[in-house]
Amino acid sequence: MAGETTRGLTPEFYRARMARGLRTRGIDAAVCEVMGRVPRHVFAAAGWDLEQAYADITLPIGHGQTISQPYVVARMSELLLEGSDRRSVLEVGTGCGYQTAVLAGLCERVYSLERIAALADSARARLRELGLLRVHTKHGDGFAGWPQQAPFDGILVTAAAAQVPPELLAQLRVGGRLVMPVGPPGHQELLTVDRQDADTLRVGRFDAVTFVPLLPELD
Ligand code: SAH
Repeated sequence: MAGETTRGLTPEFYRARMARGLRTRGIDAAVCEVMGRVPRHVFAAAGWDLEQAYADITLPIGHGQTISQPYVVARMSELLLEGSDRRSVLEVGTGCGYQTAVLAGLCERVYSLERIAALADSARARLRELGLLRVHTKHGDGFAGWPQQAPFDGILVTAAAAQVPPELLAQLRVGGRLVMPVGPPGHQELLTVDRQDADTLRVGRFDAVTFVPLLPELD
């Protein structure tokens, strides 16, 4: 609203407004409901006010990484749920843990890998503080996935690469879906890969997006 002054309002106000905005843009109702509950401002780095924490923008989370804009978090979540069961989901790129927390509200068990130790530690502490006990995080390399917990009903990768890592596809259950930004910088798009049977994968292409790169080796 032009000239609207919202300073001094509660996190709940901003969160509800963000969730309504996502619903208006066509995002799945269950995803909007969960995003209307997860306190995004708790995941944003210090220095951002509530208005910014709930705006549809990416935010820096330190270590040269970013938390995706709410619309992209919502879109990836709905693409994942459209195509897979909700029992066991792997996220690659925990970052600050915001997308992890959204998945935790939608899926039974969430496993999340992060290559930067400092981010993995702080996300783990934050997710625990929020009481999200069905979330398991690990300082580990997403290119290798999490074989001990595989196969997964869904895999969501929150960093971009030229191709989908083969190890991740090998850990996707029949009937499951992987969602990931794929392509060179400036030309990334959200890809879905559905495993129809042991040998058949079906690829779908969706929104143009901008993500940080999926990087090799731990930090
Ligand atoms: N889902 C995150 C987005 C973080 S940005 C959030 O909501 O905040 C992408 C993250 O992927 C970064 O934290 C980056 O360190 C991590 N990443 C990049 N390459 C990785 C890899 N090979 N394995 C695990 N994590 C990786």
